[in-house]
Amino acid sequence: MATPLLGQMMAAPLLISSLLAHAARHHGDTEIVSRRIEGDIHRYTWRDAEHRSRQLAQALRRLGVGDGERVGTLAWNGYRHLELYYAISGMGSVVHTVNPRLFPEQIAYIVNHAEDRYVAFDINFLALVETLAPQCPGVQGWIAMTDRAHLPTSHLPLLCYEDLVGAEDGNFSWPSMDENTASGLCYTSGTTGHPKGVLYSHRSTVLHAFGAALPDAMAMSARDAVLPVVPMFHVNAWGLPYSSALVGAKLVFPGKDLDGKSLYELFETEGVTFSAGVPTVWLGLLTYVKSIGARFSTLERTVIGGSACPPAMLQTFEKDYGVRVIHAWGMSEMSPLGTLCHLRKHHRDLPPEAQQHVLEKQGTAIYGVDLKIVGPDGEELPWDGKAFGDLYARGPWVLDRYFRADTSPLVDGWFPTGDVATIDPEGYVQITDRSKDVIKSGGEWISSIDVENVAMAHPEIHEAACIAIRHPKWEERPLLVVVRKPGSTLTREDVLAFYQGRVVKWWIPDDVVFVDEIPHTATGKMLKLKLREAFRDYQAAS
Ligand code: AMP
Repeated sequence: MATPLLGQMMAAPLLISSLLAHAARHHGDTEIVSRRIEGDIHRYTWRDAEHRSRQLAQALRRLGVGDGERVGTLAWNGYRHLELYYAISGMGSVVHTVNPRLFPEQIAYIVNHAEDRYVAFDINFLALVETLAPQCPGVQGWIAMTDRAHLPTSHLPLLCYEDLVGAEDGNFSWPSMDENTASGLCYTSGTTGHPKGVLYSHRSTVLHAFGAALPDAMAMSARDAVLPVVPMFHVNAWGLPYSSALVGAKLVFPGKDLDGKSLYELFETEGVTFSAGVPTVWLGLLTYVKSIGARFSTLERTVIGGSACPPAMLQTFEKDYGVRVIHAWGMSEMSPLGTLCHLRKHHRDLPPEAQQHVLEKQGTAIYGVDLKIVGPDGEELPWDGKAFGDLYARGPWVLDRYFRADTSPLVDGWFPTGDVATIDPEGYVQITDRSKDVIKSGGEWISSIDVENVAMAHPEIHEAACIAIRHPKWEERPLLVVVRKPGSTLTREDVLAFYQGRVVKWWIPDDVVFVDEIPHTATGKMLKLKLREAFRDYQAAS
């Protein structure tokens, strides 16, 4: 048998440190702007970020953090969090971003399961850290991400981030290593059981950063000023800290204030061109911008994902504000990007409503992600835009197994995403539900997302969730839970009338209930489990 002929190109491993080194060397003067927990605006450049990340890596080495060991973070989006990302991964350890919005018991579980040796935290989480410390005996030190002047007093012996960094000279070279070395860890909070850890590698992260930046993905460039609203503790802010370095974009970090006013001010003062976040944050931003009659003077496009982007929101952004929405789907287990929605060449000739219809979908897979939909018997379903089944994914940035798990969730090499979707002949994916949220009425499936999207198009509805309630004949029927806009006197009958002609008759909810607030998960998704519990024995009026 002939020996395979190997290529004769450099075997440079795909390492996260190379992203930072590239940004520092080729986009060294490009700014990174952060609204700090201390209250002010901090500015520096990619060159500064790289230097300080090297100092931080030296400091962590001095503290004894070794290869493959985990360092946790409990922090908002800011430049120190960025330095932790790059320093920890770059030196060969694992940055473990923890979601501070989870319950303390969950956080303690996650920190212990990950065996974090140190945890760095924003000082506004001091009370949380003091609660956690006795439950996390494996943590050798808690690093307050601030300077000596702002160091809070605590009964814990806190380490001061700026003292650690300031004590080092930055004379440190990023080590070379196998590109499959673990780099980051992120836990997904499933609705059942304990949270599960997704362990990213340098290779998966760099490849994902390449994929994310592509024109038919996030279309990122050195001309962009990127404001990640999506937190750095939610799947690495969808990879933006990495892809921004890859293209040399300006980064703008909003810190802890994600209300409409704070965000809008940063968008305008920093010339933000591109942003990304879950629909809930955009609800707040749009409400604020409308209330003051403002416009976005620089914002060109925004990625909306994490849960379905209501078509009404897409329309408002595009029509009222001239901001292009890129609807995206993904998950922690997919680093997170799977699909993004853009028009193709031939769509340009379609009337605006038909174009809008395409853009409402979750989009097409980017290179690096392969998808299929599967029926109840495991058979692959056709891409006809009608058949819906369980969505499976595979590729170099898709999970193989959860951290410290004995078994792999893969089925024949594919990851079952837990989402239900249709795929049309051109490959456009439409997520109809989480498999556990789908409503099964008389053996047929009703898409809760579609039912919610209709409600969200009503001018007096702020937010709506559709859940299944038990029905003696049909097994399950949809119930719509609605939060009215302030001042609205909308009735059940008004809402039901709004559905006429907008969905098939049997998809119209059996009833509508009004609530003051819909509960959300720690990552901003509607907590349907809570709603299902609250309305477990609900009897529809109809
Ligand atoms: P997470 O791992 O927290 O990012 O959650 C991933 C899950 O969020 C996915 O499996 C979907 O159920 C949901 N999701 C993400 N993006 C979308 C989207 N654009 N439309 C509908 N559901 C989405």
